Amino acid sequence: MIDKIDILGQEFDVQEFTDEHDIDSNLYGMCVYATNEIKIRKELKPKQKGMVFLHEILHAIDYLQELRLKEREIQQLAVALYPIIKSAEIFNDIGVDSIP
Ligand SMILES: [Zn+2]
Repeated sequence: MIDKIDILGQEFDVQEFTDEHDIDSNLYGMCVYATNEIKIRKELKPKQKGMVFLHEILHAIDYLQELRLKEREIQQLAVALYPIIKSAEIFNDIGVDSIP
């Protein structure tokens, strides 16, 4: 998995996290604007990780460009863009290249 990504000229650290105590089982990822970090839940399946990664990238773009997209819009863009980006094989670096 890659550990850094450039988004609009800003370097974001990419990390996995574990919710050992299962405090929020619906928390799959987060984008921390204050520290330029994207965190992805370690236990997710590879395809989910890819989707969450893209979702958090879109949050970063939304924040940096002040688009003010709604959560639903972010997710719809992620769902739409994921297969396109995946087919372009730019997601190989986070280990999702073997997913059909
Ligand atoms: Zn979100």
